[in-house]
Amino acid sequence: MSERYDPKEAEPRWLAYWDKERIFAFDPEKKGAVYSIDTPPPTVSGKMHIGHAFSYTQQDILARYKRLRGFNVFYPFGTDDNGLPTERLVEKMKSVKGVDMERQAFIKLCEDALKELRPAFVSDWKRIGTSCDFNLFYSTISEHCQRISQWSFLDLHKKNRAYRKESPSLWCPLCRTAISQMECKDEEKTSTFNDIVFTVDGKELVIATTRPELLPACVAIFAHPDDDRYKKLIGKKAKVPLFGHEVPIMTDTRADPTKGTGIAMCCTFGDQTDMEWYRAHKLPLREALARDGTMTALAGKYKGLHVHKARKQIIADLKEAGLLKKQKDITHPVKVHERCSTDIEIINSKQWFIRYLDLKEDMLKWGAELKWYPDFMKHRYDNWVKGLQWDWCISRQRFFGVPFPVWYCAKCDEPVFASEKDLPVDPLKDKPSVKACPKCNHDKFVPEKDVLDTWATSSMTPQIAVQLLPEKHRSKVFPMSMRPQAHEIISFWLFNTLVKSKLHYNKVPWKDVVISGFVLDPLGEKMSKSKGNIVEPQTILAKYSADALRYWAAGSKLGEDIAYQEKELVSGDRFVTKFWNAARFAAMHLKDADWKKLAKKEPTEVLDQWIQHRLAVTIEEATEAFEQYEYARAKTAIEQFFWKDFCDNYLELSKQRLYSPKTPEEKESAQIVIAKCISALVRLFAPFTPFITEELYHNYLHTHEGYPSVHVAGWPEPPKKHENADKIGTMVVEILSAVRKKKSEAKLSMKAPVKKLVYEAEVDISKAIPDLQATTAAEKVEKGKAKEEVSTGIKVTIEL
Ligand SMILES: [Zn+2]
Ligand SMILES: [Zn+2]
Repeated sequence: MSERYDPKEAEPRWLAYWDKERIFAFDPEKKGAVYSIDTPPPTVSGKMHIGHAFSYTQQDILARYKRLRGFNVFYPFGTDDNGLPTERLVEKMKSVKGVDMERQAFIKLCEDALKELRPAFVSDWKRIGTSCDFNLFYSTISEHCQRISQWSFLDLHKKNRAYRKESPSLWCPLCRTAISQMECKDEEKTSTFNDIVFTVDGKELVIATTRPELLPACVAIFAHPDDDRYKKLIGKKAKVPLFGHEVPIMTDTRADPTKGTGIAMCCTFGDQTDMEWYRAHKLPLREALARDGTMTALAGKYKGLHVHKARKQIIADLKEAGLLKKQKDITHPVKVHERCSTDIEIINSKQWFIRYLDLKEDMLKWGAELKWYPDFMKHRYDNWVKGLQWDWCISRQRFFGVPFPVWYCAKCDEPVFASEKDLPVDPLKDKPSVKACPKCNHDKFVPEKDVLDTWATSSMTPQIAVQLLPEKHRSKVFPMSMRPQAHEIISFWLFNTLVKSKLHYNKVPWKDVVISGFVLDPLGEKMSKSKGNIVEPQTILAKYSADALRYWAAGSKLGEDIAYQEKELVSGDRFVTKFWNAARFAAMHLKDADWKKLAKKEPTEVLDQWIQHRLAVTIEEATEAFEQYEYARAKTAIEQFFWKDFCDNYLELSKQRLYSPKTPEEKESAQIVIAKCISALVRLFAPFTPFITEELYHNYLHTHEGYPSVHVAGWPEPPKKHENADKIGTMVVEILSAVRKKKSEAKLSMKAPVKKLVYEAEVDISKAIPDLQATTAAEKVEKGKAKEEVSTGIKVTIEL
């Protein structure tokens, strides 16, 4: 056995071994309970980032625990590579714009980029020791996923949940596509509130707005019905400054008398309220904004200007005409597209929607059917559901995505749907299965060009994963046991997966949801390219080991954000070295012994019984914590046992009996518990640090136990407890600590002799005295009146 452990050499060796021996392969024929995991498919973005390394390690720890518990673990792996994220990545990589390219050429570019990026990307996941079955692999743009995604759309249409409608929709002018409410985020932006002069019967009417560029889209003015200031104006017409058209002055309770001048203009569309007014009062549609974020012909001389330029120009012109009374600088939340931070507009267009605003009550009930870890994360789900204002718009005017399986009659616009057996289809290439329109008998069709929102596909991951298996095995893994995911996509991914599973199958897709936090920089700030504070897992792995990285990731409580600290990686590496050395020391004293046989015996010496008791308690604590998915708590318990009880105290206290035993029995008693402890520790640490534990397992235990890997060698059972020995051991450790403290205060070596040690203990610790005497190098140990209280019930007098 080599003297040093080199993770740089060992980790790739074990990765190759696990792969070759198919240690993590799912065998559906295997007997026993299945534990199935709906692995989040990372978005192919070139490289794994630190947040991935963090959250995938946490879920992998849980997967490995379940495997050790004897579950047949179904842990597939996929990549999410359709939709806007890939398009934006390719646009950046190749300096192109999808909207300006020939569609098929752009799609080809995306496919090629994925082919190029995917292998290295996936290997990052393998490198950190993710124990997925990488043969159960999917890509969300594959035919397999397209078929399931299109089936989902057809099924929702059959269930009267998918509908197509021309209506105001949230729109990103940069990506030039409709988007959904979940893709919006609020960003604090500075702006000005402008008091602008309208005229009514030749008199001034001042209205405050942040969006004067929408004046050409103004269709009405609203005051609150109880607002006495404006009562006499209701029913009259106001003239819009600069543009000159006249709009009615009306009342609506949604007008806020305390905001601005208390009277508001309604444009189609400046915001959500405009849309509500447009619908409630059947107002005309005046579209001043084009889909690319520039002004339309309705804006007259401002036509073609980008919305921000138009705003500046219109303000300047109002000022010059004396129509701007006042300007106030403000900071307010603006809805932006989460992918590109562009201000969102509301633009009228024809889109497919999933009807679900009527299901809010049910959605809250569905959320309550899941078990949430940590439980407070459920609030985020509830808040999202309560705040829903839009049905889910699933049309995207983009290119690299799953096509809608739909054509429209060229004459009457009636949609014609693909048949299920033909899926997946691409309406741009394939023909509909009917010869003529079922409504008007016309025989020409127009293919749907839009693609499905990427979340419409990724919300099907349970089915995508499950259908990788032959049909007869699928019910074994669905509904799934667990969905692990990050908290920031509860509204996207968790919500939609749950809703779809309920709508399709009337079942929750998983039993438990396990939510992880974020990684922040060392100062607790969010990491971002612009701040230059990004830490890359690849850099960490070049310097430290994957085990060290995982050791760090396991240190934060489930669901909590963590600040990245390099010293945690140092601790991880230190642990690996310590574990290696402790195991080597232990093994040296177990030479030629059969570990398996030893571990079946009971220790006879009191301190051996004490450490066995501590081991039993530790296994119980770790198991209990793991059952709640609290890996950090499990890790703390195991670590405490390893560093303090086992290394610092027990191995020291038993040294004398190991090196120069008085009887073979007292040595064997120590060997028994050392075999038990090491055998348990490699298993207890295996979920956290899979590499070093595999190395140690193969070095010391494999030949006796025969399992191909520690990761399938079973979770340890707590050995027999010895309550009384625990009391004695605890006191002995207190005395040992007091002696060590005294020596260190006197600046003496730990080996320095103690002239006399007098103790006074409530419990009879005499059986442990020989070990204590040897460890403290005490010339004399006596029971008697002692001076110094070191803990409740123990006093000592130490003479150096
Ligand atoms: Zn965008
Ligand atoms: Zn027709």
